[in-house]
Amino acid sequence: MKQFAVYLFLCLLFFGVRPDVQAQSFTPAIIHNEAAVQFPDQVTFQLELDGEVADAVLTYDVVQVSCLEADSQVPVEIDGNQAEWTWVMSRSGNPPPGAVVWWAWTLTDAAGNTFTTPRQTITLTDDRFEWRTVTAENIRLNWYRGDEVGPLLLDAAVAGLHQLQDEMGIQLQTEVQFYIYGSSQDMRDAVLYIQDWAGGVAFSEYNTILMGVPPNIAADWGRTTVRHELAHLVIGQFGRSCVGGHRPTWLNEGLAVYAEGEPDSGTLADIENGIRSNQFEPLRSLNGAFPAHDAAASMAYSQSYSVVDFMLSAYGQEKMQDLILTLADGQGYDEALEQVYGMNVDGLETAWRSAIGAPPRQIPPAPTPLSAASVPTAVPIGAPVSVPTPPAAAAPPPETKSKSISICGMGLMPLLLVTFVFKRRRYPTYD
Ligand SMILES: [Zn+2]
Repeated sequence: MKQFAVYLFLCLLFFGVRPDVQAQSFTPAIIHNEAAVQFPDQVTFQLELDGEVADAVLTYDVVQVSCLEADSQVPVEIDGNQAEWTWVMSRSGNPPPGAVVWWAWTLTDAAGNTFTTPRQTITLTDDRFEWRTVTAENIRLNWYRGDEVGPLLLDAAVAGLHQLQDEMGIQLQTEVQFYIYGSSQDMRDAVLYIQDWAGGVAFSEYNTILMGVPPNIAADWGRTTVRHELAHLVIGQFGRSCVGGHRPTWLNEGLAVYAEGEPDSGTLADIENGIRSNQFEPLRSLNGAFPAHDAAASMAYSQSYSVVDFMLSAYGQEKMQDLILTLADGQGYDEALEQVYGMNVDGLETAWRSAIGAPPRQIPPAPTPLSAASVPTAVPIGAPVSVPTPPAAAAPPPETKSKSISICGMGLMPLLLVTFVFKRRRYPTYD
């Protein structure tokens, strides 16, 4: 009861109303105060009172990680003793399943007294499927197709977390939820405004990853993608920035490929090729978007992996953590590297080339300095973003080679859905 009084007091403060005697005397009788979800399209809030009020304002928001509080307040017309408001998500984009919406009504009587209902919550659920759930520490994985899929992908997620912790010293800070759909189409139907090639999407502000994983590719594409996406999410949490800090793409993708586990034969072949034929790009050119061409994209991921592997083995995990945090503080790429490693992007490239036996690259004597602000990086580290990834086989058939990789473009989408580069391997076509 005491807690409720404190809560009420805070609510009243929040809505700018002093808890004076007058306000406390107004306590409307509420018959009905509910919300109904029609996922992913809308949430309808309904209020029914025993008696009349002059004015009703609905305040609602979704629980998420954010640098700014940004709830919505809507004056709702009173119809007799009832009020109803529908939040149409097709206008804004929708939060993922599992997201929690809270709401409260602020009611005013004819004398101007105000009363705010205690916050209530409702969880958005995708009821189209019979979800099953497996859990491990800090991971909840929901799936519905293929008995073995859930446990298999949970194992991959746990292994990925262990590797992030053991080899980078970076821990998951908040529980992550996976929703594994049985096909990429099922997954896409759960997200308004998603590209029709997307096979996965990470809602980092909700700590939620959605993927479309048919059982026949769960053991390969599924396992790798779980670890890759989880790494983006965990590193995103660790390096969250509320001051506009960014990470270069080569660092983000290099860390995520590193987190997939042992490099596959395609990655090793790329690196060997890069050394033998001197095919690596200037590292500085991988600060922003990766090349769109398949082979060049493949090389960009493999090169990024190799650089991260070198940084971790030569300088250790503390420096890597330091770098991520320094970038989150808003330092430019060169400045952050100088501060932590004593060299800029070019210096790092020279050290890495030398360590793996690649020929040195002629660095222009006075390179144009690039700051974080001037680089078209895919995603501001700390900003709430969602990251669609391509499905394993929704793209044109891959060429005959060890792996096929595609870049999926960059662009802003509603709800800050940001397209993202992602490594794709060659897999059989599925539904
Ligand atoms: Zn990635």
